[in-house]
Amino acid sequence: MPNVRFEHVSKLFGDHVAIRDLNFEIKEGEFVVFVGPSGCGKTTTLRMLAGLETPSYGKVWIGDKDVTLAPPGERDISMVFQSYALFPHMSVYKNLAFGPEVRGMQKSLISERVHQVAEMLDLGKLLHRRPSELSGGQRQRIALGRMMIRQPKIFLLDEPLSNLDAALRTTMRSEIMELQRRLAVTTVYVTHDQVEAMTMGDRIAVFKDGSILQIDTPRQLYQNPTNKFVACFVGSPKMNILPGSLSGRATAVKLGFAGGSIAFDAGRLAQPLALEEREVEVGIRPQDLHWIKDAPSRCGHRLGGVVSNIETTGPETYVVVDIQGTSIVSKFPSFPDIKFGQTVELALDLDDIYLFDRASGDNILGNRDKPTQADTKLPWAAG
Ligand code: ATP
Repeated sequence: MPNVRFEHVSKLFGDHVAIRDLNFEIKEGEFVVFVGPSGCGKTTTLRMLAGLETPSYGKVWIGDKDVTLAPPGERDISMVFQSYALFPHMSVYKNLAFGPEVRGMQKSLISERVHQVAEMLDLGKLLHRRPSELSGGQRQRIALGRMMIRQPKIFLLDEPLSNLDAALRTTMRSEIMELQRRLAVTTVYVTHDQVEAMTMGDRIAVFKDGSILQIDTPRQLYQNPTNKFVACFVGSPKMNILPGSLSGRATAVKLGFAGGSIAFDAGRLAQPLALEEREVEVGIRPQDLHWIKDAPSRCGHRLGGVVSNIETTGPETYVVVDIQGTSIVSKFPSFPDIKFGQTVELALDLDDIYLFDRASGDNILGNRDKPTQADTKLPWAAG
């Protein structure tokens, strides 16, 4: 039985439709991330799961219980928000103990739980301090501790790391993942950061305009995005998009893009080409465009262009190349010997491209099954 189920859930604020017809399930112990641009409905969905908002339509289930109208206290969930909302005048111990005390837990049991959680979060030596005497990361851990001390069925986290600097975010990200794995509590985590989503989630729900466009494993989102929005949202730097067209019939299909026309393997299309001509967009990830000097041998297709920008990160360099009036980002080795305005040739394996219908944005390729790493939490999303 799923731990969480949304059944045709919509939410209106006045006549503004914030959430439209959400249907999804979350399994027991799963770590699901809600990701998407600002205002797409992530927090509203989380709040409906927490019982802080009531759906206008549809039902929310936790286990076998319809909780659509149940108050937060009856849902056995714990939540951490972006602002940790710690009590500034209380010690770390008191901050952790406050919730159980209010619920009337026995004093000795509270002390045992506080020390257990403090131990897990490496806060043991800080129990006497006040929040103002702690670092951002330590305060963050108290907020997590308050969530854990209840031993709820579900953890809900809403942008919990957005107040931290980049280095601390990375550390805390690992700590939350490690904790979640250890406790195996069903977790829903809201972020607008695709890197956070890709590194943390067992599955990721990509939101746009109040709908979930795709809910899938990181690998599926990356390799088989259902549409251009998901494809461009996942991966950094983001996918390059070039205008193109498909023409022909049956097995004799040609793909025109970047000023050329090439034979295209029609077997890769999810549906046979019905029209003589179809306007498409060609998606190419920066890491699939290689400097010709060190391209893998499988990259037989060539694209020529002029270098318009160079961004070096250290381990790699992203070079912006102007191809037929479209700027595209390509991956070069670190510190390549190239200059602005130089003409370069890029190499591409045509098996690496994505194709989207230009009008709908739908991915029109069939499922691609590349050699992979693990099915979840891919290392290329890090950093
Ligand atoms: P962000 O990443 O900026 O926090 P979000 O994806 O979490 O955004 P929500 O906060 O869920 O988005 O908001 C979804 C939509 O509903 C937005 O258009 C927002 O303005 C609207 N909205 C949210 N809460 C209310 C409210 N209480 N009253 C009216 N409109 C609201």
